[in-house]
Amino acid sequence: MSAGEEKGERNTGVNRTLILAHGQNWQERYFNLRKMLEVLNLEQVDFCLAADLKLLNLLLGLSNHGGTHACLYCTGTLKNATEAGQTRTFATILQQHQAYLDAVKEDHKTAQSQFHNCVRSCLYPITNPEATILSAIPPPQLHIFIGAVNKLFNLVKMLMVHYGRFEEFDKWCSTNSITRRGYDTNQLDGNNCRAFMKSVDKLKTAKLKGKDEPPEAENLLPPSPSCLLILDTLQALQSVVKGTMSHVLASSYKQDIGRYAELRAQLPPLVKSECGSGVTYSWKEHILIVHLESWLDDHQIGLASVSEQASESVHHFHEVRSWSHYKVPEGHSKFMQRVTASVVKFSSLNTGFTT
Ligand SMILES: [Zn+2]
Repeated sequence: MSAGEEKGERNTGVNRTLILAHGQNWQERYFNLRKMLEVLNLEQVDFCLAADLKLLNLLLGLSNHGGTHACLYCTGTLKNATEAGQTRTFATILQQHQAYLDAVKEDHKTAQSQFHNCVRSCLYPITNPEATILSAIPPPQLHIFIGAVNKLFNLVKMLMVHYGRFEEFDKWCSTNSITRRGYDTNQLDGNNCRAFMKSVDKLKTAKLKGKDEPPEAENLLPPSPSCLLILDTLQALQSVVKGTMSHVLASSYKQDIGRYAELRAQLPPLVKSECGSGVTYSWKEHILIVHLESWLDDHQIGLASVSEQASESVHHFHEVRSWSHYKVPEGHSKFMQRVTASVVKFSSLNTGFTT
């Protein structure tokens, strides 16, 4: 298959993605994943995995992200989120899991955290046990981006509530087409994260009563050092996103990540002193701050080349471009036949062939 590398035609994009399998109502669970991998025979092909953090932990046999050591790349904790723990390799995961099984035989109440949360058999098709996880699985671009932006967005929201300006802020978001949507309405999805990040300058100068107010009118942003620091952090994050998450890696990527990490680290004490609330780190922020740079050092390309964005978009584009024409209700006598036809149609369009 040949494809230009222009936007919309990249081999890594949704327009070139082929669907290999379609599962109806399959939940993201360990058992289902194991069943799927049993028939894929991934050992026989070269591949690069692109998935969200939940799926990656399932695949490696790690517990979910409520666990003490839930980073797939190291054994660090969220208490010291800006520091790396011991580097995980496939061998350390296998050893820790065996040790966990042995300990559970003696005492079924053994804490998972004692064995770095390696609670199930690793499902990843391992070819080199000594390889680090980071060398085998790239940081999931879309999800760490969404996680880092949402953390800052939610902090702005919290301060707006604290200063009694949430309603006005919510109106400003609507006016600027920034909408919380999806299964968790407190979160911005990828497009809305981009919209919010691009609107930081506008937010800095927005007026409390709306855009038609004179320059001397009161600003929407409260007189809050925390708010200003959050917006500065967001602008630093924007440089990281631009420089590391597109196809080309910016030469300033180390400084960009360093600047973001430095500003982000100043937030917890400042917010605490201003409104008494604690600010924690998420695992996505930990990966961005602690592991992204090492991956970029080794690969010298932007994360877009290995992003899970395309496979996430397939759900939507398959529905729009193909399934909407073939759709029949589940339980219909021709349901499976229609699903197959729809998947073949979608993949054929993406190869340039038509059925
Ligand atoms: Zn880590």
